[in-house]
Amino acid sequence: MKKGLLIVNTGNGKGKTTSALGQAFRAMGHQLNVCMIQFIKGSWKYGELNSKDRFNGLLDFHVMGKGFTFKSNNLEEDINIARKGWEIAKAALKSEKYFMVILDEFTYLLNYEFIGMDEVTACIQQRREDLHVIITGRDAPQSIIETADLVTIMEEFKHPLKAGVKAQRGIEF
Ligand code: ATP
Ligand code: MG
Repeated sequence: MKKGLLIVNTGNGKGKTTSALGQAFRAMGHQLNVCMIQFIKGSWKYGELNSKDRFNGLLDFHVMGKGFTFKSNNLEEDINIARKGWEIAKAALKSEKYFMVILDEFTYLLNYEFIGMDEVTACIQQRREDLHVIITGRDAPQSIIETADLVTIMEEFKHPLKAGVKAQRGIEF
């Protein structure tokens, strides 16, 4: 039986975004199209931004709000960026093109109520039945967890930052 899954990677530990990227990498190995929409929280230039062109057109990669921070001084702009990203996400969820749609750091948009939970739930539930969706981000809302088929909570057990090791290129970004 083929079933499009709603996959949620949440929790405070490392691995939410990189797990989603790994899943995309696996799918593209089967020549399956993936759309990733990344809602960036800080000013890091993530390596995956540079990798996106290497997959022979299989990966459509959208970065929303490069360099912007949620809860910044310009709330109106943050909301605009979030909503623009959500418009792209909605189009991707309706498109016949994709095997998988990844909404990276999407939980923040929901938690700050930049976009409405009811609309998001409806769009996810009305998607093509074989379309896989991955949502990442800390503090996934309960209703998303309930709708999901696969939920993984990354637990921080040890992190080098706590030992004073600064974020490293190729690992953290
Ligand atoms: P990654 O992108 O490495 O898979 P993530 O998506 O699980 O991490 P985010 O909450 O998106 O984590 O965090 C953004 C950045 O902070 C990432 O570069 C990640 O490596 C780093 N990070 C993740 N978890 C922790 C932690 N517990 N302590 C410190 N830094 C972390
Ligand atoms: Mg992440």
